[in-house]
Amino acid sequence: GSKGQGGNHHSFYTAEMGAQAVEHLRMEGALQRALQRQEFLLYYQPVVDIGSGVVSGVEALLRWQPQDRPMVSPADFIPLAEETGLIVPIGDWVLETAMRQQVAWREAGLSPVRISVNLSARQFLGQDVAQRVAALLAGTGCDPAFLTLEITESVLMENPAAATETMGRLAAMGVQLAIDDFGTGYSSLASLKRFPIHSLKIDRSFVMDLTRDADDAAIVNAVIALAHSMKLNVIAEGVETDEQLAFLQRHGCDQMQGYCFSRPVEPGRIEAMLQPAKNFH
Ligand code: C2E
Ligand code: MG
Ligand code: MG
Ligand code: MG
Repeated sequence: GSKGQGGNHHSFYTAEMGAQAVEHLRMEGALQRALQRQEFLLYYQPVVDIGSGVVSGVEALLRWQPQDRPMVSPADFIPLAEETGLIVPIGDWVLETAMRQQVAWREAGLSPVRISVNLSARQFLGQDVAQRVAALLAGTGCDPAFLTLEITESVLMENPAAATETMGRLAAMGVQLAIDDFGTGYSSLASLKRFPIHSLKIDRSFVMDLTRDADDAAIVNAVIALAHSMKLNVIAEGVETDEQLAFLQRHGCDQMQGYCFSRPVEPGRIEAMLQPAKNFH
């Protein structure tokens, strides 16, 4: 625009920052109203056992559907929600909704479905997440043995002492913990040893070029082998092609998520992919 033209640098930057601050406030207000108006929803992406092809779980992925505008992806609003603290009530809504969904599928006669929920840094380190999870488990009747909480490695490394304590409390409730986007942070696998982790999710950026880039193939291989030696379950994220899937299968990766099986979908579309419970006899 014409902002700042002919003006000095000081006023130029002030105007730019002012515009940014206004946009910031507008978005913050919109996010707040979105909660009140119930414009958030959860999509679910199947997590598939590579050996059997069975859908063993789903990952809950947040979506924002404003009334008269296209759906907004989490990448476009979670950073701001995190910055403003709105991630706490939004994250709480996500946890409760996912737990209720797990119960609803159980009550519909489906085999227990593991539900994975993403926790942001602020949610995990800033509030008493263990206490909230305990209260929501009690309130919803969700089975903790089929609940996984995903956190990124950077969250662990930001405050290892607090993270260890919180993870210990969650693990004691029977909840499983997964490291999301593994490989994108700076932690080594060995440094994860002190945390009570159940699964590692290999970041999509390594899976993407697996069949073309020998380095990525070597990294994925090494992660699978080392994770297994530490008795960790390994999930590959962002599997898009049959070639990638074949590679992962050959190298013993346990589970996968990706467009080659299914994109994240509405809960109603997940039901057809799940098995009926086999405990009727
Ligand atoms: P994430 O937890 O690593 O989730 C995986 C992302 O990869 C999802 O993006 C999913 O749609 C996408 N994906 C899955 N398979 C493929 C594939 O084969 N190809 C490609 N290109 N992408 C694939 P989405 O749903 O846009 O979510 C992005 C990120 O937003 C998530 O990454 C997570 O960090 C965050 N997020 C989503 N929901 C929540 C939530 O409820 N709470 C918090 N704190 N963060 C969330
Ligand atoms: Mg995730
Ligand atoms: Mg991920
Ligand atoms: Mg990711």
